[in-house]
Amino acid sequence: QAKRSGRGRVVVYTREMEEAAKRVTRIEQALRRAVSAGEVEPHFQPIVDLKDRRVIGFEALARWTDRDLGVVPPATFIPIAEERGIIGPLSQLVLRKATEAARNWPDELFLSFNLSPSQLVDQNTGLHILAILDRTGFDPQRLEIEITETGLMSDPASAEKIVNDLRRVGIRVSLDDFGTGQSSLGRLREFHFDKLKIDRAFVSTILDDRPSEHIIRAILAMCDGLGMDVVAEGIEEEAQADRLVQFGCAGGQGYLFGRPADADATLGYLRDSFRGAARKATG
Ligand code: C2E
Ligand code: MG
Ligand code: MG
Ligand code: MG
Repeated sequence: QAKRSGRGRVVVYTREMEEAAKRVTRIEQALRRAVSAGEVEPHFQPIVDLKDRRVIGFEALARWTDRDLGVVPPATFIPIAEERGIIGPLSQLVLRKATEAARNWPDELFLSFNLSPSQLVDQNTGLHILAILDRTGFDPQRLEIEITETGLMSDPASAEKIVNDLRRVGIRVSLDDFGTGQSSLGRLREFHFDKLKIDRAFVSTILDDRPSEHIIRAILAMCDGLGMDVVAEGIEEEAQADRLVQFGCAGGQGYLFGRPADADATLGYLRDSFRGAARKATG
């Protein structure tokens, strides 16, 4: 009996692996179809000035609901898109739609956009981005690209060339999820980033964890010294925002200020808040 269940376990294990592989292939096929049909949509999450809670820009985040699979989260489909060579077309689709939406926002708001590691080894990435901005007429000076430490690792020289080409037309570059990747501080000497985004892992523990507090304060001091803007990610509570302001953190993003929302909802939100601001300004 024991022996049989032992052998059975081996069989179940391979079957589970087989099921997982099948699921990935199913997602891959559905995603290819969705990308060609233009069915992946950007949602937009506000980024605010922490002191006065004014919105200063939005991060575009890809959203996909498949007919059969339902909502598939980016944490699932982005890695599959990367592995199976779909990230380029997916990214171009999302950037096109995002810039078409952001064209209708007030001029002072920026749009930030995530690039995956494999896009930083593909020298066509820069050309594709510039072609899309050209076509949609979106001002490159209002665009920021977010890259991670991991994205710089596999081929730093290639990444640097892409980033420099984009920076030449005024696109800003931010370092996303700072503090959780496998890179080193040396990266910050070699590369110039316009902005650094402090990972949610530090923000979510800032109130009850001395190490997080000290790490955040050290990051803020470093950004100040290096002349980088800073945004704290994943702020969910007022007390976290208060503490960050007290430490001198200028920018914030998180559910406290707004969840990612589609283009229509975002435009409605901007109409309301900018009308409110205009009313305030005129008394
Ligand atoms: P990210 O770039 O670090 O984006 C921030 C993630 O944190 C988003 O998850 C956002 O919804 C979530 N978030 C924001 N505020 C809060 C908060 O207060 N609490 C919590 N718990 N979460 C919060 P999302 O949209 O699921 O995206 C996950 C990741 O997928 C992104 O992390 C990014 O790495 C990747 N991703 C999303 N869209 C794209 C895309 O268009 N292209 C590429 N290459 N990657 C993308
Ligand atoms: Mg990001
Ligand atoms: Mg992030
Ligand atoms: Mg993150």
